[in-house]
Amino acid sequence: MQGLITKSTGSWYQVQTPDGERYDCRIKGKFRIKGITTTNPLAVGDVVNFDLEPDQDTGVINTLHQRKNYIIRKSINLSKQAHILASNLDLALLVVTLASPRTSLGFIDRFLVTAEAYDIPAVLVFNKLDLFSDEGLAILADYKSIYQNIGYPCYQVSALKGTNVKEVQDLLKDKVTLISGHSGVGKSSLINALLPDLDLRTNEISDWSDKGMHTTTFAEMFNLPQGGSIIDTPGIRELGVIDIEKEVLAHFFPEMRERMHDCKFNNCQHINEPGCAVLAALENEEIELSRYESYLSIYNKNDTRS
Ligand code: GDP
Ligand code: ZN
Repeated sequence: MQGLITKSTGSWYQVQTPDGERYDCRIKGKFRIKGITTTNPLAVGDVVNFDLEPDQDTGVINTLHQRKNYIIRKSINLSKQAHILASNLDLALLVVTLASPRTSLGFIDRFLVTAEAYDIPAVLVFNKLDLFSDEGLAILADYKSIYQNIGYPCYQVSALKGTNVKEVQDLLKDKVTLISGHSGVGKSSLINALLPDLDLRTNEISDWSDKGMHTTTFAEMFNLPQGGSIIDTPGIRELGVIDIEKEVLAHFFPEMRERMHDCKFNNCQHINEPGCAVLAALENEEIELSRYESYLSIYNKNDTRS
């Protein structure tokens, strides 16, 4: 049987078949993923084949289908092993706030670079709209224009009041969307607003506890009522990228990518080279200073690591 992994504890996987049945499955024997070393062989979003065990209730996964893409958790140790968080994503959505708490532009830019590196379209959702004064709304408009001008759709919502949540619902229809955001921005509130059927969530979790399975998960997929699904990654602060070499970093900034072929030197790093089209655009304020500063910051961090 074929199915989609909707939840993982590392040893148990919840697998959903196309007709909506869900089975708890395990892997038996060795499962090797080509290319990278990972601490977990399978992740939420993976399409797999499995056989039912004689009890007809649990299953054994035997095949992983080719992944369209996948993202990893930012490495917190030096073991060089990656932990795959989720795969086969259509969209990466970052929930941000300008106040209580303030999401820094650097954090937003790192998220967008990560999405670019994985070739996953990204959108920004500015939450807590109900808290904005007129002054705050003007700042919000500035922020939105920074990102819309370089091709990232921006939404402004109040998860609490339900304002504009419908627009986000329409956006997510029939897509697999990863939702991220640092603690306190209202990610859970937005997910709750998108998933009115909360009972379903809590039931599933208690079902796993009853069976004595570890319920600490890295990612979990929820079906959206209008079609499509969202993947939540509770407790994950930031996504990680394997090996973005600083020489190619500018490719992951769309506004730099579209200008760099005009640089005088084709190995231009856009730092201090003469005839640099990116620096010229920065000078003309066609490239936002905050974005360029994020470029430098990521560039220099990579420098110390290599
Ligand atoms: P998470 O840590 O990102 O999952 O954030 P939560 O959803 O737990 O929300 C953090 C706090 O922000 C809670 O006190 C929420 O009630 C509040 N919050 C979430 N969304 C909104 C919103 O749109 N407006 C306001 N005023 N508060 C919100
Ligand atoms: Zn240049």
